Amino acid sequence: MPLRVCFITAEIAPLAKSGGLADVSSALTRHLSRAGHDVRVFTPGYSFIDRSKLEVHPVEFLQDVPLEVGPHRYRCSVSTVRLPGSSASVHLIECPELYARPSLYTTDADEHLRFLALTRAAFECCQRMAWSPQILHCNDWHAAFGPLFLRTLYAWDRLFHGTRSVLTIHNIGYQGVFGADSIDDLGLGPDSYLLHQDDLRAGKINSLRHGILYADAITTVSPTHAREICTPQYGMGLDHDLRARGDALVGILNGVDYDEWDPRCDRHLPLHYGPQNLDPKRELKRRLLDRFGLRGGERTPLAGIVSRLTLQKGIELLFGALPQVLARRDLLLIALGSGEPKYEEFFARLQRDFPFRVVFQRGYDEPLAHWIEAASDMFIMPSLYEPCGLNQMYSLRYGTVPIVRRTGGLADTVQHYDPATRQGTGIVFNDFDTPAMIWALETALDLYAQPLHWTRMMLNGMAQDFSWDRQTAQYVALYERLLGG
Ligand code: ADP
Repeated sequence: MPLRVCFITAEIAPLAKSGGLADVSSALTRHLSRAGHDVRVFTPGYSFIDRSKLEVHPVEFLQDVPLEVGPHRYRCSVSTVRLPGSSASVHLIECPELYARPSLYTTDADEHLRFLALTRAAFECCQRMAWSPQILHCNDWHAAFGPLFLRTLYAWDRLFHGTRSVLTIHNIGYQGVFGADSIDDLGLGPDSYLLHQDDLRAGKINSLRHGILYADAITTVSPTHAREICTPQYGMGLDHDLRARGDALVGILNGVDYDEWDPRCDRHLPLHYGPQNLDPKRELKRRLLDRFGLRGGERTPLAGIVSRLTLQKGIELLFGALPQVLARRDLLLIALGSGEPKYEEFFARLQRDFPFRVVFQRGYDEPLAHWIEAASDMFIMPSLYEPCGLNQMYSLRYGTVPIVRRTGGLADTVQHYDPATRQGTGIVFNDFDTPAMIWALETALDLYAQPLHWTRMMLNGMAQDFSWDRQTAQYVALYERLLGG
């Protein structure tokens, strides 16, 4: 049965993107709509969205409408755009006062108001469209007050009586905390007793916490991460509230957009390959090595890294491990990324210390990311924590053996290779320390020296399917469960 889904997100590709939230919002809503569901996305009409290549349609009856956010009065207009290749309509909330800023997110004093306004605008649009959503799907802290508003500010409206709410946590590290002196901005009046009282006494309001407290279901982007965030180690102060929700919290893995990431048709590559024909992969490796002046023997493996260079990505582990392994083993390395200076400096130093064997490309380079996935033999992803992670899933499809730490989505998508059974798709290590990292790299190199095992592992990985069709079905099953279907 087709469902009516109101989807509130601060990012959606290709309109506005800072990370995975944009990709998931875009892919999930496109697939839901392709499956026949009536999905309406609400997102800020950021001034930097390039409208010239989009068909933007102002909604006639939603122009210059008043929007109240606590004591604040705004006026907003709504336009719709279609996501490329989909009938899902994105409703842009146009409110220059809030969204005409140079970037998606700011450190401005009204940051919480910008997204409270988005959340309120979604409700108000539903009312003005006389459209009754069965599911209110709120993403990250920006929309996390949606479930509480449903139970309070909009509880009087029959339009929402059948509506069930879902909060998806894409990154628990961002919680949208603001000062308790802004309590009136929530407009809850006598319902303010529903706010987290300990936080209030401590002088703050945590947006994400209220989503966790009041959503009918909470999802995060992998089953392992769903378990992890219930622990103090990964819960970032919200583990207690998450544990209290019990079965209401589920992990649904993100999917991969195989239209973009498949070596059989990758538009960034001059040659294509698949499990039946791996020769072009070797040729792509040769060309990439030439391009960057890397020199190795006939069978020297190439390891790739494409990453934001932040604490989360576990680059720390490479500080001790890579110089040692490079010193004693035959290995080439190409790393692409940017981020914290200490990580950039580490890779720059590695390049100086191992000329012709290590190359570091600082920056963000989409085509090169595709080349690295295709040309490398192995891909290193030693994350400290990883809610889902995409690159390891890309690597599997590209026959590039992932070397990952057993955390979050990495644990759910890469299975350690067992030479006895020839099952498994990569190298998985447990401990976040240098010896474990060295063990993983050396295990990979030992297996690489045994082509029968290596090819088996590559082919096992290439056969994995993390497409959005499969993952979308899990969201639909969750929606239906909430609706009692
Ligand atoms: P996260 O969202 O935490 O950064 P993911 O693995 O989920 O990690 O997604 C990262 C995405 O960003 C991947 O598509 C990856 O290829 C891309 N990416 C990261 N850094 C770069 C870069 N320097 N150049 C090009 N693409 C990058």
